[in-house]
Amino acid sequence: MPICGVLGWPVRHSRSPAMHEAGYRALGLDDWRYQLLPVPPELFEETVRGLPGADFLGANVTIPHKEAALALADEATDAARAIGAANTLTFGADGRIHADNTDAPGLIDALPFAPAGKRALVLGAGGSARAAVWALLNAGAANVLVWNRTPERAERLCAEIGGTTVQDSLPPADLLVNTTSVGLRSEDPFKALPLGVDSINGYPCLVDLVYGSGPTALTSAARAAGATVVDGLEILVRQGARSFERWTGRPAPLEVFRAAARAAPASAA
Ligand code: NAP
Repeated sequence: MPICGVLGWPVRHSRSPAMHEAGYRALGLDDWRYQLLPVPPELFEETVRGLPGADFLGANVTIPHKEAALALADEATDAARAIGAANTLTFGADGRIHADNTDAPGLIDALPFAPAGKRALVLGAGGSARAAVWALLNAGAANVLVWNRTPERAERLCAEIGGTTVQDSLPPADLLVNTTSVGLRSEDPFKALPLGVDSINGYPCLVDLVYGSGPTALTSAARAAGATVVDGLEILVRQGARSFERWTGRPAPLEVFRAAARAAPASAA
């Protein structure tokens, strides 16, 4: 029986099992299973090394294990190495562990246009921002600007991956990508971020990685201003679809993934 799963701590509210299991059913992969794998950091490495011997084909990796997943892998894609984190592990028949980062191509898949030649403004400088900046630069974005509350972190990100830091006066851009956690706890984005309510007009497309039980304040404001919006659930679906395709060798049924992700309980993250 082929088994995949998601490693995290905590992870009990993950929507990935619902998405992947629905995908298996839709494609007639009746003996495939996808399991929640709650693992504390101190047990992460020994748990992962035990998975290939327990019929696991692969695993998604979420907070706080993405850097550790890359560190223990025998081989890794250029994306995972450049970003410094892996969210997808695949186990070879010989037990070797391969690491990939599908957050990066998942973001590009979710965009309504190709970013080549475009200007993007990324808010945040954490793990998701690293994947976003790398993905946009590799997809040919002409200019990737990075703002972060703690400027030194944005400077470090740009020195390591590329892009240009901006301070508190945010310029307009073709694409605004929020990778900060602002919105997760209903904060007002127009207080926490250096964005005026009117300045949202300067961004014809918004990607907000944050998701919860309903639209975030940022996505609502962008929609009201007429922008095209890609929400955090679509980003979740697209990174999961890339992992699914890697393990099954079949295209992920995106509508099935979307329906499963959106049907998950409101508290699920
Ligand atoms: P992270 O590494 O902890 O980074 C958090 C970022 O948010 C940092 O840039 C931090 O700035 C900023 N931040 C936090 N509170 C802030 C505030 N009050 N005002 C301004 N900036 C603030 O987290 P991450 O892994 O990149 O994840 C970021 C968000 O993306 C989370 O909400 C996560 O749930 C979401 N996410 C979604 C998906 C998806 O599939 N949709 C995937 C991954 C992550 P400082 O550096 O100044 O602290």
